Amino acid sequence: QGTLMKGKRGVIMGVANKNSIAWAIASACAAQGAELAFTYQGEALGKRVRPLAEGVGSDLVLPCDVSDDDAINATFDEIEKKWGKIDFVLHAIGWADKQFLRGRYVDTPRQAFLQAMDISCFSFTAVGKRAAAMMNPGGSLLTMTYLGAERVMPHYNVMGVAKAALEASVRYMATDLGRDDIRVNGISAGPIMTLAANGIGDFRYILRWNQLNSPMRRNVSLKDVGGSGLYLLSDLSSGVTGEVHYVDCGYNIVGMKNPDAPDI
Ligand code: NAD
Repeated sequence: QGTLMKGKRGVIMGVANKNSIAWAIASACAAQGAELAFTYQGEALGKRVRPLAEGVGSDLVLPCDVSDDDAINATFDEIEKKWGKIDFVLHAIGWADKQFLRGRYVDTPRQAFLQAMDISCFSFTAVGKRAAAMMNPGGSLLTMTYLGAERVMPHYNVMGVAKAALEASVRYMATDLGRDDIRVNGISAGPIMTLAANGIGDFRYILRWNQLNSPMRRNVSLKDVGGSGLYLLSDLSSGVTGEVHYVDCGYNIVGMKNPDAPDI
């Protein structure tokens, strides 16, 4: 047990199960002494999140559907009542109708586009605004993104467009909140098999491709992302804001297929 996060209180949004990126970052923060609150979407997930939260000494576990402003306010009101101030928020939430995470991007209907944008992009802005109103100086907001925001990845489609908007929102939020000594960053993680990733067409192929072609010749682990998340949520990154930080075993720097990689 370390002490890097001792005295800090944070809200973890987006744990679905123990394979969630949110859980990896939460565990890393808890191991450094952070006190955590967890939010979940819907009672079915609540049943899974509660025992995980208890395992890291947290009994503040609240529902929060981030597509609903009233739900966001109610959740943070509750946390404010209990804690007063908070030090960090992890937003590890994304969603698009998986029917449109395959095939052509141009076939995305308006409603599916708006829903993906709402949950995967705007919710970070809405949460950031509400959370900032109860943050101590030195606060940190962190979201999760993917290289599909910048380059075309097969099947990522409307999620790529939503992540591009999310990355832009990181920069605007960092500028708005910087004067209050609140930092805003994103982690662009390499592919990891999670519940959300499972909805993306041919995800196993993407995993294999990244493993063979990244400079480190492997995929990122949940532990890799947990460590980088801890850094961005802690005071170790006190001068870092508006940044999209790659945690992808270097895949983003590669210009061509690794000539030694076998055909897949
Ligand atoms: P996950 O399925 O474990 O987590 C996604 C979470 O989003 C779930 O807990 C789900 O309940 C939550 N969610 C969806 N809609 C919601 C809503 N309306 N209100 C509240 N919560 C809602 O999958 P994950 O891979 O850990 O995803 C976490 C984040 O990481 C996502 O933003 C995802 O896009 C991003 N990401 C994932 C990968 C990957 O390969 N797994 C790579 C880069 C970025």
